[in-house]
Amino acid sequence: MNIAIIGGGTAGAAAALFLARDGHRVELHERVPEPAPLGAGVLIQPTGLGVLRALGLAEEILAKGAPVFQLYGTSHTGRVVMNLDYNDWLEGAHGLGLHRGVLFHALWCSLQGAGVDVHTGSDISSMEDDGTRVTLRRGEAALGPYDLVVVADGTRSTLRAGLPIRHRAKPYPWGALWAVLPDPQQEYRGCLRQWYRRAGQMLGVMPTGAGPDSHTPVVSLFWSLRADRLDHWKAAGLAAWKREVADLAPETRGLLARIGKPEQMTWAGYSDVVMRRWHSGRVAVIGDCAHAMSPQLGQGANLALIDAQVLAACVREHADDPSRALAAYTKSRRGHLRYYQRASRWLTPVYQSDARLLPALRDTFCHFGSKLPPVRTHILDTLVGVKAGLFSGRYAGTTEPTPGMAPASAVESAVLIQRGDNAARN
Ligand SMILES: Cc1cc2nc3c(=O)[nH]c(=O)nc-3n(C[C@H](O)[C@H](O)[C@H](O)COP(=O)(O)OP(=O)(O)OC[C@H]3O[C@@H](n4cnc5c(N)ncnc54)[C@H](O)[C@@H]3O)c2cc1C
Repeated sequence: MNIAIIGGGTAGAAAALFLARDGHRVELHERVPEPAPLGAGVLIQPTGLGVLRALGLAEEILAKGAPVFQLYGTSHTGRVVMNLDYNDWLEGAHGLGLHRGVLFHALWCSLQGAGVDVHTGSDISSMEDDGTRVTLRRGEAALGPYDLVVVADGTRSTLRAGLPIRHRAKPYPWGALWAVLPDPQQEYRGCLRQWYRRAGQMLGVMPTGAGPDSHTPVVSLFWSLRADRLDHWKAAGLAAWKREVADLAPETRGLLARIGKPEQMTWAGYSDVVMRRWHSGRVAVIGDCAHAMSPQLGQGANLALIDAQVLAACVREHADDPSRALAAYTKSRRGHLRYYQRASRWLTPVYQSDARLLPALRDTFCHFGSKLPPVRTHILDTLVGVKAGLFSGRYAGTTEPTPGMAPASAVESAVLIQRGDNAARN
């Protein structure tokens, strides 16, 4: 098939690789003339690592990332609110704190080898789907026609509104300030650490491995902030903010000393995007464009990677009928995506809001509830990225097993991958 992909972020680049390796002619259109990674470090879960392994990129990623074995969070009163160990999910399992540059580098450097025709500075303004072919518009120029188009243009998509799919895209009132800081002694090794004062203040520090061109270990620091308080934060000055942070998390003073000017802190806002389905005719929608959510559960990039893998599997399975392939894609992704969308929507005010009762309930529930084995299993499955519903089982990846092969399931591949990585380490 002739396939066009719009957007060269995690979702678009991964989809381009999968589809090109299946023998399709793939064009990737990226708006930015000279694409470069933007943003804080990301936590890659065993599910996302499974997809990167399938793309042949896991070695490079594992070599540059920082294993995260534990998530540990305390309240301002010193109470342990979160203490999750990947080892309790599967012996030896871990997440991976990763510099976005490393993920970007791994995906983009593979595009050419896979035969993807990359067009940078290519800002797609609209699409026309006549039922059998899709034509893209870039300014006055018509591109295509294509047998299939994959829209992966991110949270602030300009193309989503033009699709005949009911959807809602709503910015969250809260976002985060973030910085990537050197951690040469690896003081934060192995643990994603969080500190909370009710839901109004939250600090996070995540080991992030090393950048693509460096060997110095870094961490990502996150500070939760309501969007309409950003100007006040700027006006109050860095020293006032550092005092506030040091009061909540005194052990981070050394790290805070590495922030010398406010420009080192970057603002990230997020949105909640809900679509009724993720396809229309011969157009599929993946990644943040399809289901942006707050990064509370650290799943966005992982879901984008799984989208890409499942989409390619559905296209492979229904190669003679692209519309059917895309309907199968929506069907296959529904339970998994809906679960994480709801979970992040419900959890976000518990961690980022001015509420007082919710965080008190959170602290009590997490402290005692997470010790109960069924609750703990549920929480760990959610963290790892394999839940497909509140009461249903784990996400099974593609709709149908590949003939002659074991059923491809996100959880199974995550388990196998972790076992493989552990064996390699030993
Ligand atoms: C503060 C923060 C922390 C996060 N932490 C995590 C985490 O720990 N773990 C995790 O899994 N996820 C995390 N996420 C989420 C994760 O970053 C996203 O879910 C993921 O990057 C989405 O990738 P994407 O490819 O869908 O979108 P994007 O990365 O936004 O890519 C979209 C691309 O499309 C291009 N584009 C846009 N419009 C057009 C057009 N018209 N024509 C051509 N190209 C176009 C853009 O230039 C861009 O390159 C976090 C997000 C934030 C904000």
